[in-house]
Amino acid sequence: MNSGAASLRPRSMKMPEPLLNSGGLRGLYVRTFGCQMNEYDSLRVQRLLAAMGYVPVDEIGRADVIFLNTCSVRGKAEQKVHSFLGSLRRLKDAKPHLKIIAGGCVAQQLGEKLLDRFDHLDIVIGTRAVSSVAQVLQRVQESGGRLAWLPETDDGYQMSEIGFPTPDLRHPTPDTRPPTSVTAPVTVMQGCNNYCSYCIVPYVRGPERSRPAGQILEEIRLLEESGVREILLLGQNVNSYGRGLDEKITFVGLLRRIARQTGVARIRFTTSHPKDLTDELMSCFAEIDPLCKHLHLPVQAGSDRILARMNRGYTAAGYVEKIRRLRSICPEIALTSDVIVGFPGETEDDFQKTMELLDEARFDNLFSFRYSDRPNTRAAAFSDKVENSEAARRLLELQSYQADITLGKNLAEVGSVRDVLVEGTSRASNGQMTGRTTQNRIVNFEAPLSSIGQICSVKVVFAYSHSLKGVFIAK
Ligand code: SF4
Repeated sequence: MNSGAASLRPRSMKMPEPLLNSGGLRGLYVRTFGCQMNEYDSLRVQRLLAAMGYVPVDEIGRADVIFLNTCSVRGKAEQKVHSFLGSLRRLKDAKPHLKIIAGGCVAQQLGEKLLDRFDHLDIVIGTRAVSSVAQVLQRVQESGGRLAWLPETDDGYQMSEIGFPTPDLRHPTPDTRPPTSVTAPVTVMQGCNNYCSYCIVPYVRGPERSRPAGQILEEIRLLEESGVREILLLGQNVNSYGRGLDEKITFVGLLRRIARQTGVARIRFTTSHPKDLTDELMSCFAEIDPLCKHLHLPVQAGSDRILARMNRGYTAAGYVEKIRRLRSICPEIALTSDVIVGFPGETEDDFQKTMELLDEARFDNLFSFRYSDRPNTRAAAFSDKVENSEAARRLLELQSYQADITLGKNLAEVGSVRDVLVEGTSRASNGQMTGRTTQNRIVNFEAPLSSIGQICSVKVVFAYSHSLKGVFIAK
């Protein structure tokens, strides 16, 4: 669906690049829309451009390069991308040397059309070309042209980007963001072969490809050296990790190697496809100590008819049976999920089946969305769309039902003592630290700054809808 070819267009203006400070540093402003995979790619861009002297800035006005990482998984996200890109025109007019780069799924999907639509945009870079961002930027700076770079095969990972934190986390300067290195994402695989009928990922991220285990372990060790305590393994469907690699390894094998061969305190992963969740992987929650007791397992719908139309490959009863087994293997596990309401053809009866599933599954938290058409997907061509107002009503009903369940789960935490990995200072409450339990619940509590990066014992004293309040007991 993409041209796969690069095009270079002439642009008249070429200005010298001003320096952000006397150290020769220039400002990089990154704006990320969408999923954790995009967050990770944005980190990769920061690492790669650090080698060219770019440091992250929080104020867009200080940027010499803007990297916009786009998302097209939902229509709303795509609209935000377009309006953000439009809003950059004034800045570019005022600062002609500024280079604007668009990456991510919208960039991959629209390619040169994005350059046509926004003539102040300099570079469009595909999802498989993140590793080349520095070279592409340099080429555009030297030529003064505009470029869409959408290779059909992966550029691969460059050793210079593996494991290194964002610029100078170890030596922060006033021009760098404060360190945020207690937790870090690590991609284990890219792409997806599942073709759920509503999802654009296989079209914009390509078929699934796993990274060699040795490269993943090396990245984790380097992150550890820079102070990272918790890693989040990322993939569209981590359960299929290892397929296509020369070395014989499964996702369970990878988890065991990480636990054995690195010293990270905590391991998380996302996302898991219910159809591929094996008993062996479930057992890992009871057997691998650093593996956090939390699983995000998107169910999407509670009606078998809708699940079949979504091409999900499981039934509601099969899903519920899997989570029952998982809870019997690891009773303290927290479960979260995703639901789409208003999928084409969803009747009130189908919707009520989703509500019944929520009642049965009792998720600790739920991410729910209204269905929106994505280009090229099978569901976009389904004719029996649900009225927007009806889908909105269902979403409201579902969210308010789940809100009660989530609050009930949080209230049940009051009085317990939990291990909390402190990630930093809390945004909401002054002077408080914030961290997560192994079940991924946010806990805010008073503790010294030195507790950042430590796992503290915290007594839960109050529950809110989205977080807990605690009292520090010990490190
Ligand atoms: Fe999309 Fe389905 Fe693949 Fe998830 S499993 S990325 S929803 S196609």
